[in-house]
Amino acid sequence: MENLTSSVSSLALGDSESSKIPLSTSKKYKRPNRAYHTFESSGSGGATSLPQLESPAGIHPTKLGGSQPQLFGASNENFVSQEAALSMQDQQRITSHYVSTQRLEDQQQYLKRSFLTSQDSVPPLATTQFYCVDQGSSDPRQMCLTMYNIPKNEQLRSATKLPMGAVLQPFTDSTPNAIVDLIDTSTTNGPLRCRRCKAYVNPAFSFTFDSNAVCNFCQISTPLDENHYAPLNPNGLRSDFDQRPDLLKGTVEFRVPEKYNPVKGIPNVPLHYVFLIDISTLANENKSSLATIEGVRTCIEYICTNQPNCKIAIIAYDKHIRFFNLRPELMQAQEYIVSELHDVFLPIYNGLFVTPADSMHVIQDTLCKLTAYIEDGKFSHCFEACYGSALDAARIALDTVTAGQGGKIIATLSTKPTIGVGNLSVKTDNALKKTLNCDNDFYKKIGKELLNSSVSVDLFCTSSAFVDMTSVGHPTLVSSGYLKYYPNFHIDKDEFTLVNDMLHSVSNCIGYNAQLKVRCSAGLSIYNYYSASNGYSDREPRIPVLHKDFTMNVLFKYTEQLPVSKNIHFQAALLYTDIDGVRKVRTLNVSGAANDSIHEVFKFVNQDAVVSIIIQDVISTLGNCNFVNIRKLIDDKLSDILTQYRALVSGSSSSQLVLPDSLKTLPAYLLAFEKTEMMKNNNKSTQGNSRVSDFFLYHNFNITQIMFKLYPQILPLHELLGETDFMFYDENDELLQTDSVSNLSVRATRSALIDGGCYLIFDGQTVYLWFNENTNQFLLRDLLGVEPDTTKFDAITLFGGSLPEADTEINMKARNLIKNWRQLVGRSYVPVIPLRPHVDSYYAHVMGAVLCEDKSIEMIESYENYLVSIHRTIKEKLKNEDFVKLNNSKDHEHFSQKFIQF
Ligand SMILES: [Zn+2]
Repeated sequence: MENLTSSVSSLALGDSESSKIPLSTSKKYKRPNRAYHTFESSGSGGATSLPQLESPAGIHPTKLGGSQPQLFGASNENFVSQEAALSMQDQQRITSHYVSTQRLEDQQQYLKRSFLTSQDSVPPLATTQFYCVDQGSSDPRQMCLTMYNIPKNEQLRSATKLPMGAVLQPFTDSTPNAIVDLIDTSTTNGPLRCRRCKAYVNPAFSFTFDSNAVCNFCQISTPLDENHYAPLNPNGLRSDFDQRPDLLKGTVEFRVPEKYNPVKGIPNVPLHYVFLIDISTLANENKSSLATIEGVRTCIEYICTNQPNCKIAIIAYDKHIRFFNLRPELMQAQEYIVSELHDVFLPIYNGLFVTPADSMHVIQDTLCKLTAYIEDGKFSHCFEACYGSALDAARIALDTVTAGQGGKIIATLSTKPTIGVGNLSVKTDNALKKTLNCDNDFYKKIGKELLNSSVSVDLFCTSSAFVDMTSVGHPTLVSSGYLKYYPNFHIDKDEFTLVNDMLHSVSNCIGYNAQLKVRCSAGLSIYNYYSASNGYSDREPRIPVLHKDFTMNVLFKYTEQLPVSKNIHFQAALLYTDIDGVRKVRTLNVSGAANDSIHEVFKFVNQDAVVSIIIQDVISTLGNCNFVNIRKLIDDKLSDILTQYRALVSGSSSSQLVLPDSLKTLPAYLLAFEKTEMMKNNNKSTQGNSRVSDFFLYHNFNITQIMFKLYPQILPLHELLGETDFMFYDENDELLQTDSVSNLSVRATRSALIDGGCYLIFDGQTVYLWFNENTNQFLLRDLLGVEPDTTKFDAITLFGGSLPEADTEINMKARNLIKNWRQLVGRSYVPVIPLRPHVDSYYAHVMGAVLCEDKSIEMIESYENYLVSIHRTIKEKLKNEDFVKLNNSKDHEHFSQKFIQF
């Protein structure tokens, strides 16, 4: 870690300005007779300050949790609740420092007001659903910054100890689900771009009367050709201004001409899929191969209807590789078996890839024959699985047929590969390997080849035994694919989830052969794209296949001082081929304002983005799994941030722990991260399936899923619910109401759960229904439609991993809750699973992850003790003046942002 404590004098700061700002009282919104949603900002909510606007620093009025630092915590080391430390007025004005309550309050604030991207700054929480209006800046769900008042230089940035970065999820659905404008430039020279820095035209480009466009990133003029010229009116506005989405919207897409094609001189093709199915003995014994066949059938039927131009191939493997000829002229499936595993070749070319609509009868016949083999051919099943060779075969097939343009492999694996290339039979799990990075040369090599061929792999792993996921998963990691693990796979329990996960991997697909570039105003440049594909460097990442969950965290560094109170622009441009083979560029634009006041910087921090970048930074450096050390580094990071705030901003003389309002739940999330499965100590295993699959979730999950994973949401169904609780506010069923916040907020701690209660719990991918033998029988009857006399609580099952539909209020409200979670994380299905003490075998394990505020079995502290310990460290640092001081005498301009590199 850097040591900048030698930096000179401290800056005397007055009392926080917040005390001068009038407090507004929050009103509970009454539900209108007819639920509606307005796109105008409501009068009460529109007054958040506007750091993007170019106004002199320091005059921004703040409201709605903008500036009042939160006071709570440990006076004389005794934890005192926030309520004791705050006046009633404060409590009404700001959201809670408890994650569970903060989420409900934040959602309530966005029932009636939309997020206006040019007027509002810090976005809602990642777990809040909201309507957004793109006013020339992108929806923050698609692109957001960690700080909206950007420190003017590295010295001020380092005094906050916070990362200056951005989080992108370019294809996530916006609400309302607006279709992104597509501008066709394929018959011209392409979109208007700056001749110097190549930035794409955006709402902050300006135009001059002498037919030039001035770039907002580098200020260079570019002459306009006839495709981009339009006369200016006397106000300097283009006459076609209101017909140009690229001048009006933060997020737009361009259809681009041939020169943007990935392979010169070759037309683009629609997306090609390969289904790679494990049919070795273990896959057939746990029946995951049968579930996979069902998944493949579902996916192909989906592709046939929804992605009619796409092509598919089916390859199965055990100790041989089986190709299938799916040519539409055939009456039935034709199988080609390849037993050469070290120098794989394609036995067929024509008929390997087909359009499902043309060949559905041959495809169905192939799947039926595979099913018959799995069910009846027991004596010919093979234990060995040549996953490495089969993967290579799939890559060669895609590379050959698409002439190097790429495609997507959807693979299953139920055992450690023990034959062919990538044979891992000698690999065992122990505590000797202290890394989660791949150390197998074959899988590293094929990872590179997949990336070069723009092919991604989604891997569905159903083995209970060790499969060396750091190796077999590596190609998935570098190709931005999904890895999903089903421990103790059982067809009754897991088939529905596996089929839906495979379907998600197809239906979520946006395009392929993509390249990302982020540009920013002079003074900042890219320090790191957090991507395994480029080795976590500043090289522009290639993304073989894009899906809606695709998330990229970007860290910036300073190259020179930023002009105070000016707008600082950021643009992400993603060049890709869509699933129909159309080459496009999607551009996203956001901005922040350079600021020289650390007070103002701390007010406009986007905590969820900060959490996301800190986590990506940790997992990008997991070459050495010394988790005790990593936890300490996270603790140091947290106490550094809070010490800087306390020393330079809060100005409070209180002995209590003071948290910045914008970061008040940061300790809860970072503590939860320290307790994650990935970081559990284990003297016997460092690369076990559970640890590695948890590691992958941090790559696969979008930011909303990560927040729910870290701190699961628990909501009670047994409480007396108000009429509007768990009802949607708007007619599109997007915004869920939870008016009785104090009744509905349940902290993730054992002491908050009551015996006889009934809860729905969501961890980002699964909904758990918690109840026990004392839960009210009539509640269970209304909720699940079970008869209390005939069904014992431990015999209740949820068919198909879903809540049954019943005509009762509580059943409808519970389904609303599940729908809301589905919509927030962008899934069409999340499994619902019962969670009962002494009944469900996974109970203890799941509860260990859910109750993240409690002391863990690893003896990592409870949340309250953690705050006490952090507070002690902060006091110590303050006493020793062990913090970065502000120094106005000379600006350090060329520091790179190294603080976060642990
Ligand atoms: Zn430029």
